[in-house]
Amino acid sequence: MSVIARFGLTRRINAAGTLTRLGGRPMAPEGAEAMAEAAGLSLDIASLQQVASDRIAATLGTEAAMVTTGAAAALTLAAAACLAGSDFARMAALPFAEGFPNEILLPRTHRTMYSHALAAAGARLVDLGHNDRGTGAGVRGLEPWEIDAAITPRTAAFAFSATPETIASLATIAAHCRARGLPVIVDAAAQLPPRENLRRLVALGADLVCFSGGKAIGGPQASGILAGRADLVGSALAQQLDMDIRAEAWTPPPLLAPIIRGAAPPHGIGRGFKAGKEEIIGLLVALERFASADEAAETAALEERLRAIAARLDGMNSVRAMLSHSGRAPVLAVALEPPSRAATAVASLLAHDPPVHVGERRVGEGVLLVDPQSLRPEDDALLAEALRASLSAA
Ligand SMILES: *Cc1c(COP(=O)(O)O)cnc(C)c1O
Repeated sequence: MSVIARFGLTRRINAAGTLTRLGGRPMAPEGAEAMAEAAGLSLDIASLQQVASDRIAATLGTEAAMVTTGAAAALTLAAAACLAGSDFARMAALPFAEGFPNEILLPRTHRTMYSHALAAAGARLVDLGHNDRGTGAGVRGLEPWEIDAAITPRTAAFAFSATPETIASLATIAAHCRARGLPVIVDAAAQLPPRENLRRLVALGADLVCFSGGKAIGGPQASGILAGRADLVGSALAQQLDMDIRAEAWTPPPLLAPIIRGAAPPHGIGRGFKAGKEEIIGLLVALERFASADEAAETAALEERLRAIAARLDGMNSVRAMLSHSGRAPVLAVALEPPSRAATAVASLLAHDPPVHVGERRVGEGVLLVDPQSLRPEDDALLAEALRASLSAA
């Protein structure tokens, strides 16, 4: 009996992308089968994370890596690593970090709803600069002197949100922070594809980079990657693992050796979002698949599917469907006239049986976005029909 029938669930058609609230990108059978196999095994999780570190670090070109329960968890662990380092007393104190450097600087324009994940470790976020470009008031972004003016003995790290627009400034900011001993944490949760970003952000100078495993990588929904400097990843891992151990009876993996020093740290701030063996193995399988796939062929196949969907909308009154890329996965932008029809169409798609989700980022301009990354090819025809029906009624 399917879980849909067993628990009375509603299946949804996801043409909105890799959204967490819709369960992220569906996993390929290979990853799901590996997770099921892992579920039936007993494994030493610290050793498993060491294997994950070796594999992921080789793929990303970093010193070390670990599997987290998502990019948001990776951000919290990254902040905890920058605040505590290898100091057990600091690890035990978090999230109460008033007694040591706990400020994380970030450009005001990089403040997102996910920044909360950094603060959750006990960090105090300090916004820098202005938002002239965002408001259209001016042309200048964050300047090096503004970073220098904000650095105090309480500064622990610098946080950077990667987007296609901000990546250009990462090298300069990272070099500036490195010269001042400030580690740079990069939120790149959704910056895949392009696959080149797996290696690019660290190559540009990030000390720690966070990716979501449940988005484009197609790993378990509750998985993510924290990768970068070995000392910081080691600190993060120590603060996530189950530390209810007798140090004399335990052989720590190499990643933890510099931190353990004959004694084991206490349970850390990350203990509540431990990655399970299923997530770790599922992510490794998914990452291998993702990293070795032919991006050009994959993009061409997605475009072909979107063109077929667009063809089904041809000739509809005041509806214009256009394929767009901008260096990421292709999306179909469906523009409606007048723009107010878009919100009506979204409501009608959600009321469809089964419910259909499209990207709503541009609904205000009258545009629905069809993102095929989480859309199963067998649902393409159903989606096209639902779009036709909802657009005619809107
Ligand atoms: C999705 C997202 C996250 C959170 O990723 P999870 O893997 O779901 O925890 C963090 N930051 C940004 C910018 C995101 O888009």
